[in-house]
Amino acid sequence: MVSQSAEENPIEIKVRVGTPREASAASRLPRQTAPEILCAPPHRTHRLASTPREASTDNTPGLDLTGAASTSEPDDVSGTDKGQRAKKLQPTQWLYSNQNGTPFYTECASQKGGIVKPVYRSDQVGSLLRPPQLLDARDAFKAGKIDRVALRRAEDAAVTDVLARQQRIAVPIFTDGEMRRDAWQTVFSQAVEGFVDQYPLTDIARPDGTTVKVQMHTKAARGKLRAVGRLAGTDAAFLREHAPGPFKITMPSPAYVARGSFRPGITDSAVYPDREALLRDATDIVRKEMLALVEDGCSYIQLDEGFTHHLTAASKDAAAAEKDLAVDIAAENACHDAVRSDEVTVAVHVCRGSRVAWSHGPGKYDWLAERLFDALHCNRFLLEYDTDIVGGFEPLRFLPKGKVVVLGLVSSKEPRLESGDQLKRRIDEAAKYCSLDQLALTSQCGFQGAAQRDGAHIDYDSQWRKLELIVETARDVWR
Ligand SMILES: [Zn+2]
Repeated sequence: MVSQSAEENPIEIKVRVGTPREASAASRLPRQTAPEILCAPPHRTHRLASTPREASTDNTPGLDLTGAASTSEPDDVSGTDKGQRAKKLQPTQWLYSNQNGTPFYTECASQKGGIVKPVYRSDQVGSLLRPPQLLDARDAFKAGKIDRVALRRAEDAAVTDVLARQQRIAVPIFTDGEMRRDAWQTVFSQAVEGFVDQYPLTDIARPDGTTVKVQMHTKAARGKLRAVGRLAGTDAAFLREHAPGPFKITMPSPAYVARGSFRPGITDSAVYPDREALLRDATDIVRKEMLALVEDGCSYIQLDEGFTHHLTAASKDAAAAEKDLAVDIAAENACHDAVRSDEVTVAVHVCRGSRVAWSHGPGKYDWLAERLFDALHCNRFLLEYDTDIVGGFEPLRFLPKGKVVVLGLVSSKEPRLESGDQLKRRIDEAAKYCSLDQLALTSQCGFQGAAQRDGAHIDYDSQWRKLELIVETARDVWR
């Protein structure tokens, strides 16, 4: 229930999500004295630093009030009331300061009598370039030259730095850049037993015909998978304390874990006779971690790389790919369904690879989009759209109401800074196939999928210029 006790200025407010009925009651309270804001992110306490302002009076991005982002109607809203309410309740920006006194804005939208989570118009896929000091510290830790505490200090410093930089460019959703991981997917194997000890080395062919030995970060499963700790508990705890606004956590899709880690000859057939058996355990671990992250106050959870495989598979054996895809969708849905609510945004990234020389998953999105967009119970799809090989925006016609595609138009591999006008033209093009309200903007992939020096393609400054361009372009388009 909403507390009726008002407090004197400055007001301590608890940010949480309530039922449509509670939110409707809260919206009738005088704004200056409202003791509690019903809004994402949940479980965070902020100090109200200023009175709220209407988004329409500034250049901040607006939110969808059309109903596209909502899938349920409150049972007490008549048709007439709905119209009046939609007119009365406008997107509002609230100026908060975090526990360190740093101001930031976040958005709420009132919709159909309830206050729903924000639609983040600009996004970050997840990984950011690791600074040299962090790469040195990780190398030193692996060589036994520094202990885990010293490594943690280096990670904390790197995360603190990227949070400040994100705040400077006013991102709507914060990430720690996956600084605590060897690579984007190792958040799973670092906390789960049952894998071989070492990362495998593989010969990879470069486009110029030479080969290079690359340390791969997906370990083979040998025994029973069992979580020995939280996957992203440390990441979330630090972000909850230090992020200037709502934060996101990325994890590999259970479908990716099962596909990458089931290796005949290495995986014990008595424990996992087939990939589906491994998938069941991976799904259970990811699902439980997602539930824990929601408790941690995480506003946005993204599962990576579960479905690119099917793009290639469908071109070889469509019937088999159809069956495999259904299995993987069911597994991910078990995760999304566990946390799906107005409290948290759930997303998937369909990844084509972040390394220039060995990008994978050629082909258009059509086959996958037709099946995935509707069947997967997530809110957002982050799709790579930086090259012609992925085809045009036609697959967006399969996007159902209530879901968002985040267009990965800005390359995280090519240092050249894109033109803002060109990005806007491409967004306009995409909007011919779905509502503009169902779109958002990001980079095509993370900036450093692997915490190795060869995992970076562009320099530090280029990365931040691109992220700033994404935020500014999104603000212009969805103001
Ligand atoms: Zn990617």
